[in-house]
Amino acid sequence: MKKQGPFESASHGRSPVRKPELSRRRKVRRPSPVVVAVVVVAVLLAALASLTWFGPPSVRTSVVAAFRSVFAHAEATPAPTSTPEPTRSPTTSPTTSPAPTLSPSLSPSPSPTPMPVSTPVPTITPRPTTAAFTKLPAVNTAKILYRPDLSKYVGQPKSSTSLDGITVFVDAGHGGYTTSITDVGATYAGVKEASVNWQVAQKVKADLEAWGAHVIMTRTADDQFRSLHYRVARVAQEVFRIHKQLVGGSDLTELERLEALFTPSLLLNTDSYSGNGRSVYKGLGARPDLRTILDIENQHKDIVFVALHCNSLPTSTKVHGLSVYWASRNAIFNDELALSKNSSVTDKYPLNPSYQFYDDTARRKFAIELRDRILALCPDLAVPDARDGQIPEGNYAVLREENVVSALVEMGYLTNAADSALLTSDEYQTKIAQGVADGIYAYYCS
Ligand SMILES: [Zn+2]
Repeated sequence: MKKQGPFESASHGRSPVRKPELSRRRKVRRPSPVVVAVVVVAVLLAALASLTWFGPPSVRTSVVAAFRSVFAHAEATPAPTSTPEPTRSPTTSPTTSPAPTLSPSLSPSPSPTPMPVSTPVPTITPRPTTAAFTKLPAVNTAKILYRPDLSKYVGQPKSSTSLDGITVFVDAGHGGYTTSITDVGATYAGVKEASVNWQVAQKVKADLEAWGAHVIMTRTADDQFRSLHYRVARVAQEVFRIHKQLVGGSDLTELERLEALFTPSLLLNTDSYSGNGRSVYKGLGARPDLRTILDIENQHKDIVFVALHCNSLPTSTKVHGLSVYWASRNAIFNDELALSKNSSVTDKYPLNPSYQFYDDTARRKFAIELRDRILALCPDLAVPDARDGQIPEGNYAVLREENVVSALVEMGYLTNAADSALLTSDEYQTKIAQGVADGIYAYYCS
């Protein structure tokens, strides 16, 4: 709500406009006799002091910034990410700033001139970049080139062609536990989440292919590591493969330029911040290129993405049951906004405005269909939360960094004995997988 206020006052307070104004006034007085100059400077300082001391915070900030820009040349080094603020402290400022040493000898005694420069420092708006964190408008910016006709699926009976033309990303969570990179997910009592996810994912694939869907597995073996950024880039890769067939000329050149931005995620397959494994997905929010990629993905309504995971809560082994998550615009923004106020994040990651053109209605519907169809076949996984009208939102990277309709299924708790027995049973895995496939069928055909 108040995202623009702090940004504006902060930026205005640091505006270079103030610096020339002060300089000009000092030059005009220079031809005057020395005594007059001293008096004028003293009056100016007193005025500034009273402004700084008694004025509103924004004025105080402005005056202090102007003061510092005139006198403290050492701080002229650019600081777009507001690096001076965190390092500036009330204890160090008075000694480092030359202003306090000038003021006492020049200003009239009644005015507390040394203080204005030092005391307002703590009131300077902290971290203007964090205050500037905003939402992008929830509108499309990419040329519309692809409009799949989904109406032909509605009312389709279950057959070998029901989902003909539909692409489903089946994302078996985690994986890669005997390679150099370990990601088993949750483990409990000897059960590896990655393996359960993989076993169910294979069954989902078979069920969907039996209805004519095109299935893409984000990993293709139980023991295969795929970074989160690989998984979302894999979605972009498929979308761009289709999209590129529709265009030519400069449009194709632009698509190839954007494609080169997420390709490193596929090639490097790492979530590490160093290097370019996150490629275009690096930072908070969406940089302009990523926004365009996500806008293009949003056109591909005939593609859905379902992530399969198992939950774990060792401190409360009675907790059990299915949870299906979706990521809405607001859930994503609220998380990013909180992160944008965390200096350990803002010092490290680029801050971009929050991407907002997700299809909330479709995503929520998709999650509800998945939950309801799984529970219809697997009532043992039902919990009160899963039965009511609510469906939880979760800001997961695999739901946030791509923009096809998506959901994340936490199939049950490995830390709950009853759930674990079901999740590791081949028979029950078959039921869960059928529920997932039913949910996808229902999303398009019901
Ligand atoms: Zn997991």
